[in-house]
Amino acid sequence: MPALRPLPEDVASRIAAGEVIERPASVLKELLENALDAGAKKIDVEIRGAGRELIRIADNGTGLAPEDCRLAFERHTTSKIRKLEDLEKLSTFGFRGEALFSIAAVSKITLVSRAQGKRKAWRVEIHGGKLHKEHEAPPSAGTTIEVRELFFNTPARAKFLKSDSTERSHLARVVEEAALANPAVAFTYSSEGRVRSRYTASTGGETALRRRVASVLGEEYGRNLLCAQRKSGGLTVRAFISPAETLHASRGLQYVFVNRRPVVNRTVSQAIYRAYEPFRGRNRHPAVVLFLEAPAAALDVNVHPTKREVRFQPGTDVYQVVTQALSKALLEAKDIPTIVPVGAAGRHTQAVGTSGARAAAQPSFVLDAPAPYAVAKPRGDARVWYSDHLRYLGQIERTYLVFDAEGGLLLIDQHAAQEKILFERYLTQIESGKLHTQKLMLPLPIDLPVSGIEKILAKKKRLSRAGFEVEAFGKTTLNVTSTPALFHKARDIKEMVHRLLDNVLSHDSASADARYDATATIACKAAVKAHDALSEKEARALVKDLRACKDGTCCPHGRPTMLRLDRDELARRFGRPGAPPRNG
Ligand code: ADP
Ligand code: MG
Repeated sequence: MPALRPLPEDVASRIAAGEVIERPASVLKELLENALDAGAKKIDVEIRGAGRELIRIADNGTGLAPEDCRLAFERHTTSKIRKLEDLEKLSTFGFRGEALFSIAAVSKITLVSRAQGKRKAWRVEIHGGKLHKEHEAPPSAGTTIEVRELFFNTPARAKFLKSDSTERSHLARVVEEAALANPAVAFTYSSEGRVRSRYTASTGGETALRRRVASVLGEEYGRNLLCAQRKSGGLTVRAFISPAETLHASRGLQYVFVNRRPVVNRTVSQAIYRAYEPFRGRNRHPAVVLFLEAPAAALDVNVHPTKREVRFQPGTDVYQVVTQALSKALLEAKDIPTIVPVGAAGRHTQAVGTSGARAAAQPSFVLDAPAPYAVAKPRGDARVWYSDHLRYLGQIERTYLVFDAEGGLLLIDQHAAQEKILFERYLTQIESGKLHTQKLMLPLPIDLPVSGIEKILAKKKRLSRAGFEVEAFGKTTLNVTSTPALFHKARDIKEMVHRLLDNVLSHDSASADARYDATATIACKAAVKAHDALSEKEARALVKDLRACKDGTCCPHGRPTMLRLDRDELARRFGRPGAPPRNG
């Protein structure tokens, strides 16, 4: 072993900088936070060379006195906290006093600043952590910082940067996050010589926020997002979220803020996905801009050098508040699909479905459905489809149930409906901890490779919580000894269990996604199959159960369980002047 020796200062500082400054976007994030902490109302950002050449940010905040300009670059120098306890009432983004120090260690940085009320501005230039020049500068408002040649002295880090377009997308994301969390601040963002976004400042609560959300996510999103709100136990949630029918293939449209800080937080993410669970198909994701406000004392923001993570004090019911806020907004906006015509060549035109929507002829969302009909979703009460006077007319192809619903036509996909009913009951039982299970008379043997059995046994507890008891039986056989009682009608428990195991094996089943899949899979297998003849009594029971669902209008995979043509619509389709008089 060679002798121990302390690292030279400049090596140590570059290593330390590595924690805070991972890529150009980290520089931008820190500088934006500083500008916001300085009370800036207008911030201009300019990027060149995907942030490798130049990151320039000019703010109109409080500025720095000449003697503070150099101090700001010292390690652990901050104007924001004095003692550890200050973290519990933190109102600024910064507190570690190491961002400028870190950036300066791995770049060539210039700061020009003038303190409010002072005449003189001061300029400091630092290269790789060493003072290069400092002198008086022509007066200008606020602070301007230019970071050039990022990672010029840490080539290893420079090598790890991704393609220009990837780095640029990270940079843009950082600006978006700052813009979303600070609607009262005006931002411009130029990259490679072009203005990419311009956000004008607006104040005034929800309207301002919605306007900002729309200008960040795009006007079309902004118009359609639902607003979810809830206050409970010291926590406040305010979110703009996709309606249940407009989900996306990517997760990229999700922004979560805790006390205005952009964060990645597992609990919040899981809570979001829980709220969408009844509506979400596989690989469909909501757009979400969510602001959570929590008392600073209930929050640990000092978990990670980049402050990307926060921890909540145990007992802070974040999951609950977020799920409830979103679920409520989603359900309120939910309605049953209506049959609407689509345009020529199978291309969806606008929905002219319900009587209400028809007059306005508003284009509304059209789900994929075989031509010549598509399904559209007007807004309204979630249970408008249900009536005590449903009259059962029969079954089509032993697959669809047909009802006279107060003069209109209601079609139900019996398989999809049954799936949804089981799915919701099963979830409710699991969540309330009141899952009923049944012991199998004979254990059900399932053959699997050793690795598969290992993996399943590693998830034994989780499976047990889901109502399945398994045990190893020989090297390559697994015995299922118990299943959820809810599924007593399952035709083929073996196949059901196989699919569940498949699912456990192919996912990190801790994720909400995987659990959703597994549950949907089980419900699907256990559901009545299409092609079952149903008696009138069974058909009615099915509708009743569907009505008791949180959302009975779509199956766990997001397909509709029902279609409707109401009496007005029938009349319209037949070219009648109006629906026939009631009881006439
Ligand atoms: P922190 O933000 O954690 O305090 P930084 O290294 O980011 O640490 O900044 C050090 C100090 O420099 C800040 O506490 C602040 O006083 C000052 N400062 C940095 N940027 C600005 C700015 N744009 N306007 C005014 N003061 C600034
Ligand atoms: Mg800072």
